[in-house]
Amino acid sequence: MVKYDVHSMKAEEFINDEEIRSTLEYANEHKDDIALIDKIIRKARDRKGLSHREASVLLACEDPDKISEIYDLAEQIKKDFYGNRIVLFAPLYLSNYCVNGCLYCPYHLKNKHIPRKKLTQEEVAREVIALQDMGHKRLAIESGEDPVNNPIEYILDCIRTIYSIRHKNGAIRRVNVNIAATTVENYRKLKDAGIGTYILFQETYNKKNYEILHPTGPKHDYAYHTEAMDRAMEGGIDDVGVGVLFGLDNYAYEFAALLMHAEHLEAVHGVGPHTISVPRVKPADDINPDDFDNSLSDEMFCRIAACIRIAVPYTGMIISTRETPKVREKIIRLGVSQISGGSRTSVGGYAEAERPHDTEQFDVSDNRTLDEVVNWLMRAGYIPSFCTACYREGRTGDRFMELCKSGQIQNCCHPNALMTLKEFLIDYASEDTVRLGEAMIDREINNIPAEKVREIVRDRLVKIAAGERDFRF
Ligand code: SAM
Repeated sequence: MVKYDVHSMKAEEFINDEEIRSTLEYANEHKDDIALIDKIIRKARDRKGLSHREASVLLACEDPDKISEIYDLAEQIKKDFYGNRIVLFAPLYLSNYCVNGCLYCPYHLKNKHIPRKKLTQEEVAREVIALQDMGHKRLAIESGEDPVNNPIEYILDCIRTIYSIRHKNGAIRRVNVNIAATTVENYRKLKDAGIGTYILFQETYNKKNYEILHPTGPKHDYAYHTEAMDRAMEGGIDDVGVGVLFGLDNYAYEFAALLMHAEHLEAVHGVGPHTISVPRVKPADDINPDDFDNSLSDEMFCRIAACIRIAVPYTGMIISTRETPKVREKIIRLGVSQISGGSRTSVGGYAEAERPHDTEQFDVSDNRTLDEVVNWLMRAGYIPSFCTACYREGRTGDRFMELCKSGQIQNCCHPNALMTLKEFLIDYASEDTVRLGEAMIDREINNIPAEKVREIVRDRLVKIAAGERDFRF
């Protein structure tokens, strides 16, 4: 029998099926144990996080009063560590060539009725200009896995192109990368190319189901995929983003395993994941989410987010346009720190006037423009942030976590959010968004704790209005 070992470098030992099953049993046995639940909530209040076992008990709890306590605590922890800022980004699809057979993804090799497309560097530049014209500063590049059509050199070329484009006042200042599991050597190349976070979704942690859902292609190898973050860190990337594609397997199983993955990265590399994404399976070209039989209610989806927030308080959480504005509004409150906006999930989609559907990876449920998303966030009391400062100032991995833990984030991220919002207002926003944004900046500047920082920000806001760009702390 394979034994659970958080320090092991073998997938089946640090994501251990038996440990997950016994965690779920324990959670189920104690889901009505109010004394234990209170004790776990008390521990979570210390902001030190929870183990996968403790967090699983909270997720299983059905007591309405305790659930509302969990929601309140998640909201409070989010406020303490992330304030009322929400960082914005957009996905950029480079290529839908793919040699894998993933049953939930329309890019799978056997799908013969979608056009296959790979952006040339000129097309990448066109997409980037369109994204800059919306106001984006941070991208997540996405690609299918195809060593012939999309080798690492192609991805590196695209990253170079993206960083090189300067259109009007536009610039992409952070490129996160969501490509298939690869080698330490390739991760090192990505690091050298100046990427932000390396993102890879586990899809499902359940090995048996993983192998069924990935019947063919290199992605079939569960261990290679699950151990990818260890290789990425070995290659020098210290901001990694994990995630589960909820809907493929039992959510409680995925939740426990996701936290075990975070515990493993922390135990071995001294730093947990930078972000956790919570995508849900969506309809797409030849994909029907009902085929997977594990869909979860919006309510449970939000509860998962709240439990993640209190289990790993320092880890960013990402929600994409797979979710509707209604779900996004609810879940943001519970701990999300980053959202995508104005997204197009097709290859070459941004340069088109109308949203194209032929090469879409999934149906987008939030079709608003970036300006509309920014406007909506401010009306809900959030500061839309286009900040990309941390990794450019060397605050990655444990150095970012230190900033979080020291409470200095309010003297750093908060002013950066206000200054990048100001840039957005001047360069890209509609009249109504400008009005809301200027009022928000006036108000929020008073929430910078250090007087000296407040003064510097006031001065820089004047300089931004006069045409200077890219100030950061
Ligand atoms: N090809 C890369 C890989 O294999 O990891 C990553 C890029 S893929 C474009 C990004 C993610 O989209 C996948 O990891 C998967 O979780 C998600 N995805 C695929 N099909 C989806 C669907 N039908 N609905 C929602 N998300 C989907």
